[in-house]
Amino acid sequence: MTLSITSAFDAGNIRVLSATDTTADLEIVTDHQSDFYQWFHFRVAGAAGEDVTLRIVNCGGSAYPDGWKNYKARFSEDRENWLQADTEYADGVLTIHLVPDSNSVWVAYFAPYSMERHHDLISWAANQPGVETRELGQTLDGQPLDLITLGDGAKQVWLYARQHPGETMAEWWMEGAIERLCDMEDSVARLLRQQATFHIVPNMNPDGSRRGHLRTNAVGVNLNREWAAPTMERSPEVFLVRAEMDRTGVDFAMDVHGDEAIPAVFVAGFEGIPSLKQDRLDLYNRFATTLAIRTPDFQTKLGYPVGQPGKANLTMSTAQLAERFGAVAMTLEMPFKDNDDLPDPDFGWSPARSMQLGKDCLAVLAEIIADL
Ligand code: ZN
Repeated sequence: MTLSITSAFDAGNIRVLSATDTTADLEIVTDHQSDFYQWFHFRVAGAAGEDVTLRIVNCGGSAYPDGWKNYKARFSEDRENWLQADTEYADGVLTIHLVPDSNSVWVAYFAPYSMERHHDLISWAANQPGVETRELGQTLDGQPLDLITLGDGAKQVWLYARQHPGETMAEWWMEGAIERLCDMEDSVARLLRQQATFHIVPNMNPDGSRRGHLRTNAVGVNLNREWAAPTMERSPEVFLVRAEMDRTGVDFAMDVHGDEAIPAVFVAGFEGIPSLKQDRLDLYNRFATTLAIRTPDFQTKLGYPVGQPGKANLTMSTAQLAERFGAVAMTLEMPFKDNDDLPDPDFGWSPARSMQLGKDCLAVLAEIIADL
């Protein structure tokens, strides 16, 4: 029986070029109206007990070819536990070997975070004490752009994730952070809710998420290049969030992402903004060095080059918010590969570790909140 492969579901992405009873040649589909591609997510049926070889043949032209070296595809038979598959990369082809026990196995670039799960998260949060949820507006595909608010303090904290929809670890991080903030017996949550008001956008890009995009929204726009001049036509997601930020002000902001190439967790800051203030930069550095002490899953050696003075790209949210509000702003990057300092051969970087990191980041925020 020939393998049956489909991606016709929430966040699915693959094109089948050819298939036999144990092999398939596949291609990742580009984001709509864009050249970016790297996210894949599909189901393979009819392979129970077989030694299956799946070849994704167009990886050489993907957005981040360096992302495939030492990368392991994730697979799941129960859609709960996502394990690392036996994976090789050579000559632009990613080859995945599987021996599934059951007749439906799911394969993805990283453990997916579906829009259905997003709605579950929003409705769960909406029913927690002292939490408000609200639609900031709708996206170009007509999906809600959801905001969660909680806390009574004067410091305005913004957490937002998944501007790049294929970076699903970012919404797993959010789930961990929101869970901690809603735990009334957690002293970190109690302190933060007393000192700060949280504004949380767990998914900045619902359209890209549901369409199975890597990096862009419904019309192929990279939202993290829209923060200087967003419009309702191109980038309503950023337009709506930035307008709400203008209303509340921003003291601390964290933009949560995944990085395709670097096997580590790191942050990037706002060193290049024109109005750089030393005390804001000191707080940013204190956050990073404290987080590295508190969790071995975070480090400060690997990361992006630090911005040159005055050369910041103000179309990116971290630089825009630091410049616009004098905020302590940062981009948090988690790996698609693993944290090479503490590798886990079974799971790699995972939803559970992303959620734990969300909780750990809040503990460190609690240590600096009084000084923001
Ligand atoms: Zn990103």
